[in-house]
Amino acid sequence: MAKQFLVSIVIPVHNEEANISPLLLRLNQVIAKYNHEIIFVDDGSSDQTLTVLKEQVKKNSKLKILSFNRNFGHQAALSCGYEHAKGDCVITIDADLQDPPEIIDEMIKKWQQGYEIVYAKRKTRQDTLFKKLTAFTFYRFINFLSDTPIPTDVGDFRLQDKRVNDYLKKLPEHNKFLRGLVAWGGFKEIYLTIDRDKRYSGKTHYTLSKMFNFALDGIISFSTKPLRIATYMGFLTSFIGLLGIIYALLQRFFLPHEYWVTGWTALFVAVLFLGGTQLITIGIIGEYIGKVYRETQNRPQYLLKEKVNL
Ligand code: UDP
Ligand code: MG
Repeated sequence: MAKQFLVSIVIPVHNEEANISPLLLRLNQVIAKYNHEIIFVDDGSSDQTLTVLKEQVKKNSKLKILSFNRNFGHQAALSCGYEHAKGDCVITIDADLQDPPEIIDEMIKKWQQGYEIVYAKRKTRQDTLFKKLTAFTFYRFINFLSDTPIPTDVGDFRLQDKRVNDYLKKLPEHNKFLRGLVAWGGFKEIYLTIDRDKRYSGKTHYTLSKMFNFALDGIISFSTKPLRIATYMGFLTSFIGLLGIIYALLQRFFLPHEYWVTGWTALFVAVLFLGGTQLITIGIIGEYIGKVYRETQNRPQYLLKEKVNL
C-alpha cells in the first residue's frame, strides 16, 4: 500500500540529553513505515542535547533541528515546530517518553478516517500526587472559567491535520496557549486514551511557579470571567459597606456616646476587608493589562540560533 502522505513529528526538547536516543529508538519502530520528518526544537538546552541531536542527524536524514538562542518555553518551542513542519499531519510528542509513541499508528488511522485532531487523553499518570492534584484542578478550573470548553486531562500530545497546523501558524497571538486554541478552532476531533508513563530520565521542567504561570496564562487567554468576578466582588463589598455605613450612622445618632466610640474592631475589619478586595481586583485587571501590553510589544515568540537539515 502506498503511503505518500508526510507525517511531521514535532518534539520540544530542553535538557533531555539522556532521553533522545531511547526516544528515537521507540519512535522509529512506529513511524519508519510512514514517509516522515522529525523536527526537534531545542529550547535553549544547557546540557549536551544539541550535540546528541547533531550526531543523530548524521545517521538519519529525516531528523531536523531548530535551536533557540535561549530557553523560550515549551509553548514557543511547539509553535516554532509547527511553523516549520511540512507534513500533511503534525504530531507533537514530549521527549521524555512519558507519551507512548506506539499510539501514533492509531492516531494516523483516525486521521485517515477524517478526524482533524486526535488527542491522547491521559487515563492514568505516574506523576507525583501533587502534580496529579494540581493538573486535575487546573483543567476543571479553566473549564469553569473559559468560554471555550478546553479538553480535560489532555496535554500537547496530539495529532493535528495540516489545516489545524495552518490555522495555528496564522494566529497573530504571541503568547499562545495551544491547548485552548486548538479546541477553540472547532475542528473534527476524537480522543484516544493513554497511560502516561514516568519520565525516562531527568526531572520535570514544570516547576511549581512555571505551572502556576502556565495556568494563569491559559485562564487569561481564554476567559474574561475573572474581570466579571472582580466587578461582582466590587458590588458585594459595596453592599456590605453600605450596611456598615447605615449601622454606624444609626449608632452615632441613636445610641449614647459610650457605644459609638467603641467601633475599633469593626473599623479594623472593614479596612482589611476592603483593602484585600481592592488589591485582588486591581491584580486581576493588571493581569489583563499585562497581557495587552505584551501583545502590543509585538516581540517574536522565540529567536533561532541554528537550523540543521532544514
Ligand atoms: N520543554 C521545553 N521547554 C521548556 C520546558 C520543557 O521544550 O522550557 C520540553 C521538555 O523537554 C519535554 C516537554 O517540553 O519534552 C515537556 O516537559 P516536561 O516533561 O518537563 O513537563 P511535564 O511532562 O512534567 O509536564
Ligand atoms: Mg514530561
